[in-house]
Amino acid sequence: MIKDFGIYIHIPFCRQKCFYCDFPSFAGKEGMIEPYWEALEQEIGQVRQKLSDRGEAVFGNDSKLAPKTLYIGGGTPTVLETVALPDVFYLLQKHIDVEHVVEFTIEANPGTVDGEKLRLLRSFGINRLSLGVQSFDDGCLNAIGRIHSGYEAAEAVAEAQDAGFGNISVDLMYGLPGQDLQKLQESVESALGLGVQHISIYGLQLEPGTVFDKMQQQGRLMLPSDELTEAMYDYIAAVLPERGYQRYEISNFALPGYESRHNFSYWQDVPYLGFGSGAHSYWGECRYQNPARIEVYMEEVFQGNAMCQVEEKVTERAHMEEFCFLALRTAAGISVRRFAAVFGRDVHELYGEPIRRLVEKGLLLEDRERLCLSPLGMKYGNQVFAEFLLENEI
Ligand code: SF4
Repeated sequence: MIKDFGIYIHIPFCRQKCFYCDFPSFAGKEGMIEPYWEALEQEIGQVRQKLSDRGEAVFGNDSKLAPKTLYIGGGTPTVLETVALPDVFYLLQKHIDVEHVVEFTIEANPGTVDGEKLRLLRSFGINRLSLGVQSFDDGCLNAIGRIHSGYEAAEAVAEAQDAGFGNISVDLMYGLPGQDLQKLQESVESALGLGVQHISIYGLQLEPGTVFDKMQQQGRLMLPSDELTEAMYDYIAAVLPERGYQRYEISNFALPGYESRHNFSYWQDVPYLGFGSGAHSYWGECRYQNPARIEVYMEEVFQGNAMCQVEEKVTERAHMEEFCFLALRTAAGISVRRFAAVFGRDVHELYGEPIRRLVEKGLLLEDRERLCLSPLGMKYGNQVFAEFLLENEI
């Protein structure tokens, strides 16, 4: 039987760097797109060969890698020109059995798609589109350095629907400069009005090295107050479930049946292979991370070093902690039975005291089968996660 696993492919190019973004993505490096694809193809080929040499059960038709889910993220995968896309997908299909994939997602920036490109993407078997919208308000979009308007975002959703995408996710953000509750509400209403199936919502985080970080240090960044940001959070947490979007993970809401299978597998401890600069893999109790700088990544791959550097051998303790953090992010929470099956221990034996404290504080809900975050716990997740750190190695 083929092992359950996912593949993530990272495209590190963007038209312009958004002011809040610390992802491994770069603007102004379009000249590297072609050699990057060559490196990516070689990397996938090298890993395919390695897994074949180890006799791993990961192959489908024509001995190609057969993941359950495939996710092309970035960066902005849709910076690729429409004319280049057929070659790019040909390269992927050389090594990946796309037929076997049940969920094939691509991330897109509304400023980089049109009907023709979207139809082409759909024709390659991509069945889920994740659009980075962030807001439908032009003032907010300008303030965070996005390259598209609210109108273009709405148009991109409509064009994707016309192209045959029946599973569309939009990302929205709250706590943005110049954003008030009404603007957030209007953005949420716009997303709902467009009939998307999935909404991811993130609060703005100030990350080191970003434009916003610098502006903050210079005292030039005006953000909503903590009270207002909290009111935005409360609004989102209440309104989306009322409108039929179940909160299946801290930041993710979906109509029933439209939860992201790829992301869900990360939270469920399923192994994955990541290809491209900065991509992570979790495989055979080890974590790997590719170099984030495109040039270094390509050099490594061209020397035949794909999947060579183990970033971390996952210890039993780290595995348990991560298993708990990730499961707790989801509405399903930690399955007591699954924890016992994976680790041969009762979760209460290890975490009895923190569980009792968190239940008492109303942050954690417990029954015989599961442990999961309460609505309050969803809001203050970090407090809960900290309690699942273990003092010593197991
Ligand atoms: S488009 Fe996405 S990846 Fe690129 S800079 Fe903006 S937020 Fe970052």
